[in-house]
Amino acid sequence: MKILLASSEVHPFSKTGGLADMVGALGKALAGAGHEAAIVTPLYRGIREKFPELRREDWHFNILLGEEWVQGGLWSTVLDGGLKIYFVEQPDFFDRAGIYHEKNISYPDNDQRFIFFSKCVVHLARYLPWRPDLVHVHDWQVGLVPILMQQQKSEGWGNPPATCLTIHNLAYQGVFGPEAFTLTNLPRDFFTLEGAEFYGGLNCLKAGIAFVDTITTVSPRYAREITTEEFGCGLDGLLRKRRDRLFGILNGVDYNDWNTTNNPNLFKPFSVTSIAGKKINKRELQKFVGLPVNESTPLFGTITRLAEQKGVDIQLGALAEMLTSNIQFVLLGSGSPDFEKGYQTLARRFPDKVAVRIGYDEKLAHRIEAACDFYLMPSAFEPCGLNQMYSLRYGALPIVRATGGLDDSVIDFVQDAKRANGIKFHEYSNQALAKAIRKALAIYGQPELFRRYQRNAMKADFSWEQTLGEYVRVYELAGNCQIHAM
Ligand code: ADP
Repeated sequence: MKILLASSEVHPFSKTGGLADMVGALGKALAGAGHEAAIVTPLYRGIREKFPELRREDWHFNILLGEEWVQGGLWSTVLDGGLKIYFVEQPDFFDRAGIYHEKNISYPDNDQRFIFFSKCVVHLARYLPWRPDLVHVHDWQVGLVPILMQQQKSEGWGNPPATCLTIHNLAYQGVFGPEAFTLTNLPRDFFTLEGAEFYGGLNCLKAGIAFVDTITTVSPRYAREITTEEFGCGLDGLLRKRRDRLFGILNGVDYNDWNTTNNPNLFKPFSVTSIAGKKINKRELQKFVGLPVNESTPLFGTITRLAEQKGVDIQLGALAEMLTSNIQFVLLGSGSPDFEKGYQTLARRFPDKVAVRIGYDEKLAHRIEAACDFYLMPSAFEPCGLNQMYSLRYGALPIVRATGGLDDSVIDFVQDAKRANGIKFHEYSNQALAKAIRKALAIYGQPELFRRYQRNAMKADFSWEQTLGEYVRVYELAGNCQIHAM
């Protein structure tokens, strides 16, 4: 098939979270399987300097945003394996210090920035000489693409590609005031309860859900959860209506990036059959972050956006209780200033047990996964979550709340004693998490049992081969049942 993916972030060019990893890996997997695949993404500050091989395309965008025409350019590169990446250049919109925000404050023109980007995606879908069969958009930033394509169809675009939307996190919908709708230049009939309108404003993700041919989300359990009021973020009714086109596909892992045997980020390689190197990673990380070097002290870690979703409040509560035991904890993260302060306070209270690194650091992320005995991910909700899958491969047993993709990717003792590779808890509370940590300590105290968990964890396989087949089936379905009218 010929597939154009569109996303506001793509690893290794730009990243704030799992979206970037997933889109980059899916693109590579599609190209690797012989599909003609390309990704379109914005040209953010620093990309050209970091990737000097980018070439300018002979392409010019002249996009109407409300009453203003906005110009843009196009750059591209081809990755090993044949995946082409297009970068939309618009310096006023994208040559900035952040992707969505600075100092935790969203850019006030995010509506303009991403409506412009969405219109560029549609332009490419329509005029690229290789004519994609399907356009696969990711999250709210490109949620308007299907509706914009629908409009162009009614204005004479003969045979537009089918569309697929992946929801990576329903909590982020791209909601703006009603004036943002004028930037779309769409007829008013699209600004209704059945269309892009949401409580009087514009909702980019809702527009996508309403108009796209097929919808996926990043785990089977999250696909079920988002059709309920509890997890539906106000869109559960619409999602229930579109249930026959909604599929949950667990994200794959790009093991070329996330592996322990050939990884320049690690202090020492290791594998399931040669685990000694993991101890060296633990020792070196303890030194690196300034914790006492001690092989036998269980080391817990977390790498995360510091957002409510990630269960930061119960983690802080449970750690305050558990740090009286003989454990160490290392955090890498950034986000809400209050949460940052919360961890820093904990580090001051337990200086020889807690190390906190505020910031974003990919190398350190690999090192933490490789060093830890346990990985904590107590999310309130989690569409898929990648870190628990990375930690499985790195032999750091995940301790997760049984929600969304966390529930789908970790096996606990109650589910399958033989294949158990992590610890799950259910109730969202400090006490439930503290109890899970106590279970972890009990497992750690029995070296043979811990090794069995670790072996199961490191052998778990979330490679893209299987996942890819599921996407291709959804793409084919989208082609067969394209929405031909509103
Ligand atoms: P989400 O997309 O909700 O942030 P995921 O677990 O799906 O959560 O993906 C998070 C990705 O971002 C992982 O690859 C993780 O390693 C990375 N990440 C998050 N915070 C940081 C950080 N502070 N430094 C480095 N990598 C980070």
